[in-house]
Amino acid sequence: MSEDVADVLIIGAGASGAAAAWSLSDTGMRIVCLEQGGWVDPTDYPTNAANWESQSFGPYAIDPNVRGLETDYPINNDDSECVVVNFNGVGGSTILYGAHFPRLHPSDFKVKTLDGVADDWPIDYATLEPYFVENDRIMGVSGLAGDPMYPPKQPPLPPLAMGLVGETVARGYNKLGWHWWPSDSAIISEPYDGRDRCLNLGPCMSGCSQGGKSSTDITYWPRAVQRGVELRTRCRVREIAVDDEGMAKGVHYYDENGDEQFQRAEIVIMACNGIGTPRILLNSKSSHFPDGLANRSGLVGKNLMFAAS
Ligand SMILES: Cc1cc2nc3c(=O)[nH]c(=O)nc-3n(C[C@H](O)[C@H](O)[C@H](O)COP(=O)(O)OP(=O)(O)OC[C@H]3O[C@@H](n4cnc5c(N)ncnc54)[C@H](O)[C@@H]3O)c2cc1C
Ligand code: SF4
Repeated sequence: MSEDVADVLIIGAGASGAAAAWSLSDTGMRIVCLEQGGWVDPTDYPTNAANWESQSFGPYAIDPNVRGLETDYPINNDDSECVVVNFNGVGGSTILYGAHFPRLHPSDFKVKTLDGVADDWPIDYATLEPYFVENDRIMGVSGLAGDPMYPPKQPPLPPLAMGLVGETVARGYNKLGWHWWPSDSAIISEPYDGRDRCLNLGPCMSGCSQGGKSSTDITYWPRAVQRGVELRTRCRVREIAVDDEGMAKGVHYYDENGDEQFQRAEIVIMACNGIGTPRILLNSKSSHFPDGLANRSGLVGKNLMFAAS
């Protein structure tokens, strides 16, 4: 195979792109990831300054339309009932996420059977369980074993302190007779994997300069890069090209200088989240796929849902 062909090309270096890169990195394949944003420098996070709250409406705002960085793309929310929040850079949206880390419940895979809505998944909790465990270990998840709402599981780190708000909510639940349990968090309650523990001061959603929050730029990516994955930042993919059989053969992208490039690849993995992935698929029109790639159903880019947990 010639040097300029990647065995696997991953588009997007966020949560899923990072995990895919790491999980394939011991195969000996040539793995390349193209990410439109850059590495973040934790010393740049707003929490390093006294005016951190107002800074959260600037370069680290959760709404890309407010942030407006050149590494972002504008999102038209006009016909949407919800505003899209994300982050574009190595680590993707985990840079700004809250790191609330509940697993799906076994019943979530069977909503059609149990509740008569939507569809059952073709896989179940037991199939995914080893991957949940592996992900918890690499990310560094804190939690309390024994939640009766789940099959037995043991988070790698003890639970975070509940704090005043958590204890107040718990007292209310007790009064109502409702079940509650300290949630799993991808925030380390003790030093872990060379990282310092969370300081429990709260402003996690403008970036954690302490390194207590497990964003994938500090968990999966250093491991994947060390094992030989090539991560190219400031590279924005425009479209996926297909061969005469309609199979993906590579991507057209713009490099950090804005110059158009083509990267050949045997396999292309999309990891650009619920907006970025359909955006590229719809842009990838060809005689084989006049309505965009993987869009014979016409449903790509439709029915976007957000989950609040
Ligand atoms: C403010 C906020 C709070 C959240 N809180 C939680 C929480 O508490 N718990 C939880 O489980 N989840 C939370 N989430 C959601 C969670 O972060 C996302 O579900 C998860 O990161 C999605 O992973 P992903 O790999 O699909 O996409 P992302 O992590 O968003 O990564 C996609 C990457 O693809 C890149 N990309 C996009 N288009 C292109 C292109 N054309 N070329 C190259 N690169 C491209 C982007 O730059 C980005 O880095 C939160 C998210 C936000 C923004
Ligand atoms: S140290 Fe803890 S509370 Fe502070 S930002 Fe990081 S994860 Fe959040």
